[in-house]
Amino acid sequence: MLVVPLVLSAMIAGIGAITETRALGRYGLRTLAFYVGTGTVAILTGLLVVNLLQPGVIDGKPAGALLGLDAESQDVMSRVEGKGAHNMLDVVLRLVPDNLFAAAATGDMLGLVLFGFLFGYFVSQLPKDLHRTQREFWQGLYEIMIRIANLVMRLAPLGVFGLVASIIAKTGWSAFRPLAWFCVAVLGALAIHVLIALPLVLRLVARVSPLKHFRVMAPAMLTAFSTSSSAASLPVTLDRLEKQGGVPQRITGFVLPLGANVNTDGTALYECAAAMFIAQAYGLPLDLPTQFIVVLAALLTSVGVAGIPSASLVAIALILGSIGLPLEGVGLILAVDRILDMVRTAVNVFGDSCATVVVARLDGEDGVLGEAAMRKS
Ligand code: ASP
Repeated sequence: MLVVPLVLSAMIAGIGAITETRALGRYGLRTLAFYVGTGTVAILTGLLVVNLLQPGVIDGKPAGALLGLDAESQDVMSRVEGKGAHNMLDVVLRLVPDNLFAAAATGDMLGLVLFGFLFGYFVSQLPKDLHRTQREFWQGLYEIMIRIANLVMRLAPLGVFGLVASIIAKTGWSAFRPLAWFCVAVLGALAIHVLIALPLVLRLVARVSPLKHFRVMAPAMLTAFSTSSSAASLPVTLDRLEKQGGVPQRITGFVLPLGANVNTDGTALYECAAAMFIAQAYGLPLDLPTQFIVVLAALLTSVGVAGIPSASLVAIALILGSIGLPLEGVGLILAVDRILDMVRTAVNVFGDSCATVVVARLDGEDGVLGEAAMRKS
């Protein structure tokens, strides 16, 4: 019910916000390059780890049966027929649907996402008054959908209880094995990103000490961890980077608010890992074109995922739709989503702060994370 309007309005509002900031060209391009670059690295890390650990495959068999999926798997395979891409050309062709409404109705989400991108971009090209009307309309639609989603999420604890209870009743405690492996895979991939990939960028591109950066950002990451919301952590992130990190406000004021909504490395990684896990559990053969769809969809949708708790579940539903799996697959990961949300949100916030420091350093700011700034703390 929510996926199509939520994703479409989120993409349009998100892309509109980015393309409007072209006026700030100097930082704009670098910031975007950083977002896309680190997002892609994060997704590929998730993909690699999930392919190596195969959390959705237990003892050589898809974990679907353990997770209470057995009755549906036949049905799923018939749905996947015709949805899978046979080669890369297929993927590219599917990006452009013949009919937008048919794509929305049949859950062909990739085309919908591309449409959202194009629409959002051209909204930003409209004359001023039309532009404002469109921006406000789509922002309004998005906020309405978020409110409905929040209402639904209030029922989530009850839903998780029902789902977990029925799975345990069917298959016993063995259901936790694939879920535990899934958590290990996600946490491992997030750790690689935050402890290796981003520090390397800080050291090689920004030429600052990653350790100092971690020290400055610790309170903001803790806030992200406890609230599961990058948006809610934004004030702390701004404060830490400006006062303790010595990043000028003209840069934090541009890079951070945009990043809290657009640059979500942890979320992108998680989306990819979750979609792959669910596909593995259903026993879907994951050939290269299918994996490419997952990566592309994770990269595109992570732009539209809001900085609020559990926001990526909608994007995961969308990715499942685009490779032909039933959206109910999201139910499999609900039981462990909250704890993983806490960690991926901390990674999101750390990624935003790295973007800020890199942009500041490339802009010639020498005082960033320097001794002078640290002493003030
Ligand atoms: N909770 C995440 C954030 O606020 C979004 C998500 O991955 O669900 O950044």
